[in-house]
Amino acid sequence: MRTAEEEIVSSCPQCGVEIRTDRRFTTWCAACEWNVDPQGPGEEKRGPAAVRRRIAQHYGELLFTELRAGNSGGRSVSGLFAYAIALTVHGLTCILAAVGVWGLIAGWGGLGMVFGLFFLALAWSLRPRLNRLSDDDRVLLRDEAPELYALVDEVAAVLGTRSVDAVVVDVEANASVTHLGLRRRLLTLGLPLWEVLSPQQRIALLGHELGHFTHGDTRHGMVVGTACRSLSTWLYYVRPMPNPNVVQAVTNLACVPLRLLVTAVMALLDLLTARASQRGEYLADGAAARTGSTEGAVGLMDRLMVTDSIATTLQRETNSRRLRRTGRGGEQNADGLWEALVAHLDSVPESECERRRRVGALRGHSVDASHPPTHLRRRLLLDGTPVPAAVTADSVRAERIAGELADVRATLARDVVRDGYGDL
Ligand SMILES: [Zn+2]
Ligand SMILES: [Zn+2]
Repeated sequence: MRTAEEEIVSSCPQCGVEIRTDRRFTTWCAACEWNVDPQGPGEEKRGPAAVRRRIAQHYGELLFTELRAGNSGGRSVSGLFAYAIALTVHGLTCILAAVGVWGLIAGWGGLGMVFGLFFLALAWSLRPRLNRLSDDDRVLLRDEAPELYALVDEVAAVLGTRSVDAVVVDVEANASVTHLGLRRRLLTLGLPLWEVLSPQQRIALLGHELGHFTHGDTRHGMVVGTACRSLSTWLYYVRPMPNPNVVQAVTNLACVPLRLLVTAVMALLDLLTARASQRGEYLADGAAARTGSTEGAVGLMDRLMVTDSIATTLQRETNSRRLRRTGRGGEQNADGLWEALVAHLDSVPESECERRRRVGALRGHSVDASHPPTHLRRRLLLDGTPVPAAVTADSVRAERIAGELADVRATLARDVVRDGYGDL
């Protein structure tokens, strides 16, 4: 909702066409792209994170071309190779455990037992650690949120997969799915993202997340992910000791090859899974469209494009609320936090969304290194045949779900106002 005072009309200094903009946002020209990206690409150009980004970007573009041509972008050998490496890492842990058992038996009653126990302890620390819920997680159980679970179940049924066993709500502008232990499934919903989506976009989001289960992304993630955790433990064991004496200096030096090896294997795993994870995201977007309609899925992409606005709005809101301190113990201050967030995002004019899309295309915006560029995800959806929604939610249903989320909304708003919203 734009008021007249917020709109300014000027002409483009570069090509002269009329520009209408909202004074709260950047003035730019859609015709010649003058001032489309005043900040310019700010992110680091070097270092492992930048390399990861570039690799992700590269596969994101490659797969976009393949998938648009109607090619399924098939499973690649690199994914299998990543599996093999991950299994080797866990195999090594098994060998260490076996050595430990052998040491214990062979050296029973003697010094060999110390040797055996050492290896058993080492293997135990390197074991595959499966995901668990932590005490800080805000878990919504099935009986606490029957309507939300019914919606998730319906989305799962359309996609031909099993539904989730637990839903965690957090304050990220994101959502994700993962395994809990070996069999159970967890869906994590970031409330700031959920709140700014329309009912149909929410269904598209659920479709995207559950779509990851149908393509085996999470299973692959579990095998490779646990191997990465074991490798991190290895890296911790062989890290250099600070301010070493002579013996420690020699140990540090002796650990260099092992350190390099572990680092290299981790980098290799990352590289090998990059393509598969980009593919998984595109396919999950297809699932988003099938369940929540192409329109819903595209709308979701548009919201993802402005997730940094979510962060800055929450930061601004929490700062001003903390300054005002109206309520008792700061409690009242959290009222209306989510409503303020939605109001701000709804007030972003289409021209600013379009500018973000173009900046995203120029700089390569993506949710993170595991996701393809957002503008390509959007284009792939728009280039395909539009599909209608397989799952819908009327206002009664949407309100019932909102009611189920009321408690967690209030709790998380209080948390955010109390702790501040982290810099993203
Ligand atoms: Zn212009
Ligand atoms: Zn995803």
